Amino acid sequence: MRTDRVTYSAFSGWVDAPTDLRPALDGDATCRVAVIGGGINGMSTALRLAERGQDVVLLESEFCGHGSSSRNAGQLAGAPGGDLQLLNLLARKKMPGMMRLAEHAARHVEEFIATHDIDCEYEATGNAFAAVSRGQMGRVRRVARIVTRAGGHVEVGTAAELGIPRGFVGGMREVVGGRMNPGRFSLGMRQVLLDSAARVFEGTKVSDIVREGGQVVVTTPRGRVRADHVVLATNAFAGEWDITPKHLSVPLYVVEVETEPIAPERIAALGWTSGMGLVTQHAIMENYRLTPRNTIVFGVRRLERGMGHPLPEKVPDRALVEELAGAFALRFPSLADVAIDRAWGGWIAITSSWLPVAGRIGDNVHFSIACNGHGLAQAPYVGTLIADAIVDGHRHEDLQTLWHDEPRFPRPVMMGRVGLRTIWAIDRFNDRVNGSRRRARKFG
Ligand SMILES: Cc1cc2nc3c(=O)[nH]c(=O)nc-3n(C[C@H](O)[C@H](O)[C@H](O)COP(=O)(O)OP(=O)(O)OC[C@H]3O[C@@H](n4cnc5c(N)ncnc54)[C@H](O)[C@@H]3O)c2cc1C
Repeated sequence: MRTDRVTYSAFSGWVDAPTDLRPALDGDATCRVAVIGGGINGMSTALRLAERGQDVVLLESEFCGHGSSSRNAGQLAGAPGGDLQLLNLLARKKMPGMMRLAEHAARHVEEFIATHDIDCEYEATGNAFAAVSRGQMGRVRRVARIVTRAGGHVEVGTAAELGIPRGFVGGMREVVGGRMNPGRFSLGMRQVLLDSAARVFEGTKVSDIVREGGQVVVTTPRGRVRADHVVLATNAFAGEWDITPKHLSVPLYVVEVETEPIAPERIAALGWTSGMGLVTQHAIMENYRLTPRNTIVFGVRRLERGMGHPLPEKVPDRALVEELAGAFALRFPSLADVAIDRAWGGWIAITSSWLPVAGRIGDNVHFSIACNGHGLAQAPYVGTLIADAIVDGHRHEDLQTLWHDEPRFPRPVMMGRVGLRTIWAIDRFNDRVNGSRRRARKFG
């Protein structure tokens, strides 16, 4: 695969940054609720609050949609993220709640797109846990049993039965969900927010949040906001302030790349008739999806730990882009001559439980974070539920599933640079073993 003319972007490959930024906060303001962070999580919270007649201010350091919300792979998942076998082992009782939350979240986003007529190329294809080996297929079957027992809706089949490319052994289709252009989705949500009654300040980085006389005071470079409630929705960027719970999450940088346009007949020859997005069953997944521009967007495979704050603006590492290209050529041998056109990346937040987390610090500082790489569906849904909880004074059962009354979290394990490198090495070892087995079957 050719990687000699890749455009490396510090934002997203899906859309350009907006040019109509809202002015930064200049002076002091008061409101009932201040939302910090204008990703799909914070925007959904602010929108719901505005719809419900609350006086809400949203503060975003760059522009709404600047974070991972516009940069992700656009796979709207209908199942929880993380290692479902491990989650089932450690938190079996939580599985039905997590499954329900995941499916409700995907439906919520589908409804949002339809209600606001957001032109984000959404197609309800579902997504597949795709197996690259017989070993991974065994894992897919075990995961499917766990998901079904927890009330989720999935179908298991061979590549031909599911309509996924022939280079994969088979997989498990999440019936709910699909694929979209996440940049258009985020900027579409931004427009709905800007048209609402919410007061939105872009280019406004929050530097501190403190409690004062029963209220919360939020400090920005040119003004302070005094609010009855604050919602922290900064995802991977949480942890910049003393008020954020310790060990809430770990920031990780992940990368997506996009091929050049591919001739439609070559795509048709792959047997990818369902058009579903795919995630492999490695400990650190690879993802692959088609786009309406006849390209394939794919990525992840390696996680890079962010250290300290603020997190840097980054472009992907060339060596990782080459590694992703190598993996693509293995999964899609007939397209091994195709070039990569674009590469970009973003910061995600991972919790120690690999589950999304929401909670409250004291009475009036709320947080929700870390949909662990599955936030395209879950972040907007959880944001909406937090808004409802602030207005109604009680929590929906889906929010209760994630809720932490005591904001104390264990130190995440295996999330240091050495731990992540070890997980990556185990994946590569398994790939080599599976490759040798495949060759032995072919020639033996
Ligand atoms: C490359 C990549 C691929 C992914 N693929 C998928 C996928 O296919 N499916 C899926 O479900 N999920 C995927 N994800 C995860 C998903 O994108 C996230 O879970 C989701 O976007 C989180 O939304 P958010 O609003 O919480 O965070 P963000 O979109 O990161 O928003 C946080 C916002 O807070 C702002 N901010 C930070 N600090 C401050 C401050 N001090 N003051 C004011 N504002 C601040 C930031 O500028 C940012 O706009 C992927 C993520 C990445 C990076």
